[in-house]
Amino acid sequence: MISQILKSVILVSLVSSVISYILFKNTSKSFVEWFAICTIIQFLFFYFYNNVITFFTKLKLEKENIEAIKLINNNTILINCESCKKINNVKIDLSRDNEFNCTHCDTQNILNIEYTTIAKTKIYE
Ligand SMILES: [Zn+2]
Repeated sequence: MISQILKSVILVSLVSSVISYILFKNTSKSFVEWFAICTIIQFLFFYFYNNVITFFTKLKLEKENIEAIKLINNNTILINCESCKKINNVKIDLSRDNEFNCTHCDTQNILNIEYTTIAKTKIYE
């Protein structure tokens, strides 16, 4: 981390020095003035650049989270067609009603999902 910061500072200083030297040779302003201006411009640029990168990374992460949540809600089950009793591979989305057309007889089936509870029994020692 510290070595990265040091590397960045050295690189910024190097770029500032080169540009400042060129501008100093061609204009009336001093090298120190150009160096300060170049350094400030670079820091401002990297500040905004980092903000933009952070913003897009956040956006991407949020999108991935939404996709993950969608994936959690999706499950595939093997279920028999009500008409021909043959097995179908059906995708289930618990956030909406589920229907499927049988791949064997093309009958439209509506999935009836029922939830029941079972009390967990404890075994006494
Ligand atoms: Zn069928």
